[in-house]
Amino acid sequence: MLIGVLSVQGSFAEHIKVLDNMRIRHVQLRNFHDLSYIIDGLILPGGESTVQGKIIKESGMLSHLRRQINDGLPVLATCAGMILLAKDISNYEKPHLATLPVKVRRNGFGRQIESFYTEEDFEGLGTVPMTFIRAPYVEKVYKDTKVLATVKDRIVAVCYKNQIALSFHPELNDDYRIHEMFIDMAQKRKNQVQSLIAAASLLTSENLQI
Ligand code: GLN
Repeated sequence: MLIGVLSVQGSFAEHIKVLDNMRIRHVQLRNFHDLSYIIDGLILPGGESTVQGKIIKESGMLSHLRRQINDGLPVLATCAGMILLAKDISNYEKPHLATLPVKVRRNGFGRQIESFYTEEDFEGLGTVPMTFIRAPYVEKVYKDTKVLATVKDRIVAVCYKNQIALSFHPELNDDYRIHEMFIDMAQKRKNQVQSLIAAASLLTSENLQI
C-alpha cells in the first residue's frame, strides 16, 4: 500500500504524521516527476486552494491527477483539497480538478478568526472531532454524491464513488477513523486491481498455451 500526499503547499506534514502513526507507506507528490509512483490512494491536504490549484496546473500535474481520479483512484480531500476537487465553486472563477459533482463555497464558515472546533455525527463512524479553519462548505450536491456529515445546517463531508471530501481537518485531531476509512477504500481498490491483473495474465498465459 502506497499513499501519495500532494505536498505543494498547506498541511501535508500533518497527514504524513497520521500515515506514519498508522504505519502506512507514503510518497510526497511535489512535481510532475513524482507522479510516476504507482499509488493506491491520494491525499489532498488543506491550505490555500488558489495557490495549490495554480501549482498543480503550471507543473502539469493537474490533468494527470484528474485522469487518475476519474479512473477510480481513492482520494481523501480536506478543506482546500475539497475545493480542488469540486466541479463548481460559487465564489471563485473556475474549478480546478473538477472531478467531484458538488458546488462548494470557499471560506463559507467565515474568516480565520471564525475558525472553530466541534464534534458531530459522521455517517458510519458516530461522533468525530472536527476542526474548521477558513473552511468551505458544500452548497449543492449533484448526481449520486452522498452527504456524510452536516454542521450548523451546512454540508461538511461528502462521498462520491472513490472521492471523500471534508470541509474540516481530521489530521489535526488524534482520531484516525476517517483516515482508516480511506485506507480501507484504497485497500479494496488495490485488491480489485490486483485480481484484474491476475485474471488478465492468466488469460494471456492460457492463450500462449493454445
Ligand atoms: N479557505 C481556504 C481556500 O480557499 C481553505 C482553508 C483550509 O484549507 N484550511 O483554499
